[in-house]
Parts: sequence; C-alpha cells; structure tokens
Amino acid sequence: MKYIFVTGGVVSSLGKGLTAAALGTLLENRGLKVVLQKFDPYLNVDPGTMNPYQHGEVYVLDDGAETDLDLGHYERFTNVKLTRLNNLTSGQVYQTVLNNEREGKYLGKTVQVIPHVTDEIQKRIHVLAEQSNADVVITEIGGTTGDIEGLPFLEAIREFALEAGTGNVVFMHVTYVPFIKAAGELKTKPTQQSVAKLREIGIAPHILVCRTERPLDKELRQKISLFCNVPFDAVIEEKDVDHSIYEVPLMLQRERLDDLVCRLLHLDMPLANMTHWQEIMRKLIAPQHRVRIGVVGKYIELQDAYKSVYEAIIHGGIANDCGVEIVKVDAEQIEPEGAENILKGLGGILVPGGFGERGIEGKIKAARYARENNVPYLGLCLGMQIATIEFARNVLKLAKAHSTEFDPNTPHPVIAMLDEQTKVTQKGGTMRLGAQPCQLVIGTKTAQLYGAFIVKERHRHRYEFNNAYREQFEKADFVFSGFTPDGKLVEIIELPKHPFFIASQFHPEFQSKPHQPHPLFKGFIAAALARLHQKPL
Ligand code: GLN
Repeated sequence: MKYIFVTGGVVSSLGKGLTAAALGTLLENRGLKVVLQKFDPYLNVDPGTMNPYQHGEVYVLDDGAETDLDLGHYERFTNVKLTRLNNLTSGQVYQTVLNNEREGKYLGKTVQVIPHVTDEIQKRIHVLAEQSNADVVITEIGGTTGDIEGLPFLEAIREFALEAGTGNVVFMHVTYVPFIKAAGELKTKPTQQSVAKLREIGIAPHILVCRTERPLDKELRQKISLFCNVPFDAVIEEKDVDHSIYEVPLMLQRERLDDLVCRLLHLDMPLANMTHWQEIMRKLIAPQHRVRIGVVGKYIELQDAYKSVYEAIIHGGIANDCGVEIVKVDAEQIEPEGAENILKGLGGILVPGGFGERGIEGKIKAARYARENNVPYLGLCLGMQIATIEFARNVLKLAKAHSTEFDPNTPHPVIAMLDEQTKVTQKGGTMRLGAQPCQLVIGTKTAQLYGAFIVKERHRHRYEFNNAYREQFEKADFVFSGFTPDGKLVEIIELPKHPFFIASQFHPEFQSKPHQPHPLFKGFIAAALARLHQKPL
C-alpha cells in the first residue's frame, strides 16, 4: 500500500483539493486503484451545519455523509465512490476520543493529543486503506501549514510515514509563488518559509507543487530546489488555468508529476492515457456551440456555494459540444426589477438548492418567467419546491400557496415537512440524506433522458411535495415523473407541454462528471441549444 499526503502552504484557496484530485486522475489512468481522503482541522463534526458563506457547498455522498466540497472534486476527477470514511474532521476525532474515554477504553490513562488523537487519525488512514483495497491512498490535509488546528494531523502523518517506511509515502506540499507587481518578479520566500514550518514538525516534502500566475523559469526552480531541499524535478509548476479546472491533470502530466510520484513510490506503471481528457478540453476550449445559462440563487457572489451545480452545467455543455456561460443571478434582485429585465436572453434558467426565506419570491418569479416563456428550466431540490409553489399560485390559482418552511401558516402548504421530520430536534445529519432509489414513470421526458426506470440520486432536504395536492396538480398537466419505489414521495416533476421544464427533489449535480455528464444536465443544455437555433437571428 502506498500513501500520498497533500499539505498546503502560504495561503488557503490554492486548489489543493483540485491538485490532489488531478493527481488521482493521472494515477488512475496509469492503471492504479486510487482512493482519496480529506482531513479537515475544524471542530464541526461535519460541514453540514455550516453556512455556505463559511464553507461553500456541502457535498453529499451516497451514504448520506455531508462532506467538504473537495470530495466533489475527488468524485468528479476519478471513478472512486466515496463514503463517510473519506472525510475526517477534528470534531469527529475528538468526539470518538471523548466517547472512548467515557467508556473507559483508555484504562485509566491520561488522554492526550499524542498519542490518542494522533492514533485516531492514523486509524482512519488504515481503515480506508483496508476497506478500499486501493493501490494508492491520497490524503489531503485541510488548512494551511502553521495553523494551530492542523498540528495533530501533521504529527499523525509524520508518525504514519515513519511506520510505513521510505518508498511507501510521498509528502506533496502545494504552495504559492506570488508575483509581486512592484518588483516585477515571482517570489519564493513564502514557499521557503512554509517548507521550513513543515520541517520543524518533522516533515520534509518530497514534491513542491507551486501555484503561480506566471511560469517558473529554470533559475527560480533551482532556487526553490536549493532552499527547500527538494530535487529540481520535484519543483512542479501549477499555473492558474486559462479555461477550466479540467486542464489541471493535463498540466500536471506535462510537468511529469505522476512519473515522479510513481518513481518515488516504486510503482512501475505505464504512462497515463489522457486522450479522453484532451477531448474534454477540446470541447471546453473550442466548442461547436455556445449558450448562456442563468443560475438564480442567493449565494451567487460566492465562488463555491453552488460548486457542483456549476460543474454539472459545464458537463452538460461538454455532452452537447457546447460552451456554457454561467450567468449568476441574484434572486433578490429579481424581486424589485422583474424577471423579464434580468432573465431576458438567457438560454436556460436553473434554480439550485437552498434554505431560508431570502430570495424565495425572486426564485418563484424566475420559475414563472421560464414556464410562461418556454425557457428551459431545471430545478434542483429547492428549485423543484419553487416550481411547485409557482404552479400552485399562478396556474391552480391557490394565491397564497407556499412551503411551510417559509410560511408555516399558509392556507395551501403544497410543500410540507414529513411527520418523521417534524420530530427532529438535532441539527447535524438529520435531513433526508444520501442516495435513494427513484422510480421513473414510463413515457415521461425524464425517463427518456435517463434511459432507465430506476435511478439512484442523492438527497439533502427536509421538505417534500404535499400529497394532498397530487390530484389537483395532475389535472392541470403537472406531471410527476418519478417517485420513491413505494410511490409515497414525489421525486421529480415535469411540464409536458413545455420544451424543457424538469425539477427534482434530489440533487443530480452530485453525480455528474466531465466524462459522464448527468442526463438531466445534458438534456437541459440540449434544450437550451435547440431553443437558440429555432430562434430567428
Ligand atoms: N430547504 C429545502 C428543504 O429542506 C430545500 C433543501 C435543498 O434545496 N437542499 O427541503
């Protein structure tokens, strides 16, 4: 078993997760079985309870784990299916250690960070290694080297490496080489200092992946090599991408990162065949078509809040050889300015998931605009609830229809909480979570897009379509195109007379990959394109 530990230096947001995922792609394409894991030093048990402003998107796995968005990169870039074992937070570690202590498992010993916390961290690497049966385990340590919270994790991997032995472990440090405008130069000092910080802890990185805006010349690489004590060919350049994050594996392959890793780990594997990624990049750089898609949300100013949604839209574009410009629309802005003013000219409208009342009326207006003007609409989770409320109000004429999440006293609760959810008082991990089967209805557009009758999709919500209104909706040509296999819960809806109006209670975006675009996103972009081409110029 071989291990790669990915640490980060200088600043956060360097794309460490992406780098780890891209290395995963390369190793997988060399024929290795890879698994990826993320350690997060914060004390929340999982990011499920965190505000998107704090943390960005919460990525949901098949088993219902609410995880860090880097796990989204891992699943999109590789073929691994992740579980809750693949994301460990300090909160989980301490929860386990404290529970053990209460159960008397430490036999009267003083419970300490070393060895009890560090052992618990190492245990997670071993468990994953055993269960996944992978050739290579890539473990990313969240945060930046030098953070107080990160220390137990760094100590744990230092000890781990000692035990695993040389030739079995690679430490890869992702660092930043800033360009200082006033000096007109790239600077290596922050990298030197961050490597010094790592070495203080006892970790000497084998590889430095240098994030930079500009190319590193030979002299600069030599300087980094000398001062940071890594061989010249282990100074890897990772420049900001021009087009798409899907360039990163190709870029790192050009830098021979995977060769170096295989050499260090004594893995004799053939070169990675990346032709399918090159074709993906061709479609991203020079697509045959172009379309603009509006995403109507409330966290649109945040890069990361709708990460998987944006990626899945891009994948839908790849499937149609179509470049997609994503127009981020602030739902609150629609309320005063009107949907027409803001949404005119868009090829399609997508309303993603969300919680809380802010921006809801704007989203409802966006759904109405899409429905009335034959603009392709894709609703995800809250986006389905919004489509339902809009239809109830404007077609069924149930003027005050709402979800009880936003108006507990609405006379028409078309979206409501299930009985079992009303009893829940704990916040973390208590929603309807994870992959569940959905039976599609024969003859619907949805079933046609999927080309299947049973699909498994991931959930993260508390509210559902209220079955008391099923008949009323059905009579007005609002089609339920998928249910839970027992028929009790509505999972997906569509409007058959509309060119493309589909909305799901689940989150299809979590299962889309650049090389396996999700059928709903593929169909959505195809519909946006079809509409564009029918229109007179
Ligand atoms: N707030 C809604 C619910 O809990 C929708 C959640 C979501 O979009 N993920 O049901």
